[in-house]
Amino acid sequence: MKVLIINSGSSSIKYKLFDMPKEALISKGIIEHIGEKGSKVINHHSGLEMILDKIDGVELVGHRVVHGAEEFRRPVLIDDNVIHKIKQCCAIAPLHNPANLTGILACKKLLPGIKQVAVFDTAFHQTLPAYAYIYGLPYYYYQKFGIRKYGFHGTSHEYVAHEAGRILKKPLSRLKIITCHLGNGCSITAVNKGKSVDTSMGFTPLEGLVMGTRCGDIDPALVTHIMHQQQLTPGQMEKLLNKESGLKGISGISNDMRMLDAAARSGNKRARLALDIFIYRIKKYIGAYTAAMAGCDVLVFTAGIGENQKNIRDKVCVGIFAHLKIKPRVLVIPTNEELMIARKAMQLIKETR
Ligand code: ADP
Repeated sequence: MKVLIINSGSSSIKYKLFDMPKEALISKGIIEHIGEKGSKVINHHSGLEMILDKIDGVELVGHRVVHGAEEFRRPVLIDDNVIHKIKQCCAIAPLHNPANLTGILACKKLLPGIKQVAVFDTAFHQTLPAYAYIYGLPYYYYQKFGIRKYGFHGTSHEYVAHEAGRILKKPLSRLKIITCHLGNGCSITAVNKGKSVDTSMGFTPLEGLVMGTRCGDIDPALVTHIMHQQQLTPGQMEKLLNKESGLKGISGISNDMRMLDAAARSGNKRARLALDIFIYRIKKYIGAYTAAMAGCDVLVFTAGIGENQKNIRDKVCVGIFAHLKIKPRVLVIPTNEELMIARKAMQLIKETR
């Protein structure tokens, strides 16, 4: 069966076409600059048309959807009701879900009659216990507005955790795994017996690790302090925290780890500081999650930095498990969110037949 996986962002659509269940990749690509000034691709509909011109015989579509809130704990077949609920999730995920939805609506028009499945980044983390996902805010904000930790990159964390089990030839039910997804966005998850029990991103992807351009954990009082002092609007503050902070903000050089690494090696002090902060924060989360699970059998690195930057991995690992009698295995596992979405879409179709 030919399964098309769509990852629709605000100005791009990434796709992969798989032959399932063989899991063979038939083709992949990206359409960029959608809706931007001077671009030939005026909207997601025409972007998807360009993709469909290159491929044929699509029998099933799987969509990456960033935020499923508490509504979606599992993949779902997309119908009008699901579209309505994903729209409702836009209220708490205004940066991501609208773009995902545009991809879904374009597919619905261009591939009528073809089943579409939504797979949510937040779903894997719906197993977090309440003590890990409730913030120290008035409980009313959770009840009334759904304000809690949701976590992201779930499909990637789940994929590499499963791969770790397969590589070690051990059932997930016997493993305590810490998965580090280190790309432009970075998050760490504690996976106990196959279930996500804590994760570093929060209500939005801003919480947790220092990332390419996101600040990660900060004193929340800084937000209002800076807004007052610099007379910033909420939109400007959001931009500062999401796009101007992290590795880029600290170093003043770049959000790209390769460039930072080169700058640090040639003696740039702020590039070195940015790397030290990045590594220190990862170490702290690994320590916290080892405590949360009362142990760690496997530490997994994945995504752009995790897969490619050995020096970062080595520095993270220095000394962190010195206190453990049996040292965890450290694995580097390339992530494949699209394949995981294809597997989940196939599984759902099987179940609903
Ligand atoms: P995204 O979150 O956008 O999918 P990636 O997973 O591609 O990001 O990760 C981007 C980060 O990974 C950048 O900091 C980049 O420097 C680093 N990176 C990507 N590819 C390589 C590579 N081949 N060698 C070293 N670093 C890489």
